[in-house]
Amino acid sequence: MHTGPALIERGRLNPGYLKLDLFCRGLRLASDCDLGGEEQTRRVRAGLGSGLELCIQGRGGIRVNAPVTEAFARRSPYELHGPRADGSHWITHDGKEVASVRVPPRPKFYDLLTSSGKPMGSVGTIQGTYLGIYFGMLCANWKAPDDDACRFCAVGTNVSDGDDRTDKSARDVVETALAAQRELGVTFVHLNGGFDDTQRYLERFGPVLEALRQETGLLTGLQLPPLRRLANYDAVRALGVNNISLCFEAWNPRRFAEICPGKNRRAGLARYKAAIVHCVKGPGFDTTNGELIAGLDTPEDSMAAIDWLTGVGAVPTVCVFRPLAGTHYATLPPPATESLVPVFAHAYRRCMAHGLPIGVAPNVKVSIVMNPEECRWLLPPTERGRWRWRRAKHAATRLALGAYVRGRARRAARGRAASG
Ligand code: SF4
Repeated sequence: MHTGPALIERGRLNPGYLKLDLFCRGLRLASDCDLGGEEQTRRVRAGLGSGLELCIQGRGGIRVNAPVTEAFARRSPYELHGPRADGSHWITHDGKEVASVRVPPRPKFYDLLTSSGKPMGSVGTIQGTYLGIYFGMLCANWKAPDDDACRFCAVGTNVSDGDDRTDKSARDVVETALAAQRELGVTFVHLNGGFDDTQRYLERFGPVLEALRQETGLLTGLQLPPLRRLANYDAVRALGVNNISLCFEAWNPRRFAEICPGKNRRAGLARYKAAIVHCVKGPGFDTTNGELIAGLDTPEDSMAAIDWLTGVGAVPTVCVFRPLAGTHYATLPPPATESLVPVFAHAYRRCMAHGLPIGVAPNVKVSIVMNPEECRWLLPPTERGRWRWRRAKHAATRLALGAYVRGRARRAARGRAASG
């Protein structure tokens, strides 16, 4: 009996499998590949945006940030070619064409300046179809003399010699978000930040979240270390935050301590779990996500994490380990695709079985992780039709939310006009 995904469908590689395989094996640029001479890769956030942004054509346009700069990508069987006369590129696997892709043009707003003179591309980054922003000071785990940085994380090198910075103001963020909204129609802005030993998270993030809500009307997400006082999540929700995510990365406590010494010392796995449970039950966020990295834990431990998250009502965000330049794990091999297929198929099954709202955010396609709804592609073909009614409900919710977000954006625009 065939228990894996069908790899070739209608002459094309299954797009969900292709996304996962690109994460694990990377992509080479063929000698006939022309990207228009524009810089396309960026070293931002925890580093998963280090690759080339692509949109796999057909089947809803899956977005993927394909590793191209890391050493393992130079041995990839995948090569990018093109463009053709219609502007599309194509990917070959061992010389055989397997997919047609679009390389999104570099956003024009990256080169605009905020009113304080910062290039907007150093304030925020498009990762798929949403705007991602690392906000605030450098994570305490990266500060000397401790060597507490998470072993996979590139935040410290991103801000020292990469494309990110730590001196963004709330105004820089709002102006960048408005420019991204105007140019690309983004609906969601996601802010993340590292550890702050003074615990002044609300003071630091409150004004920028408030300003984003009032002036842009965009949906907002926030990713921070667990707050020491759980009651403070009510204040975060009151700022209009729609999505909260907590990244514990590894589920096995021994691996958690090895991979994330700073998270272990400053918070501990138990506080991540307590915060996730609290956020699901209490403050009324639209969604709570728990984030882990597949390929650092065993597949069994990743699946146990998915069971726990979906069991408490949180959506699993599962990244694929990428050995990034400048990190402790730069020379480790990436995970094998086949070992991860069951993990991502499990994530989809558990989300659907628990009725979690996956894929409902309008126009939010994340390129740096497998979106839970994309993991459907990793089911055996005989199982793909399951939960049809639930998928129809998610599609209807997405449509309704799209209208709601457009209304919010219009009201925010009127507010900006009225205040001159
Ligand atoms: S908590 Fe870990 S992953 Fe997050 S910014 Fe700090 S070092 Fe990086």
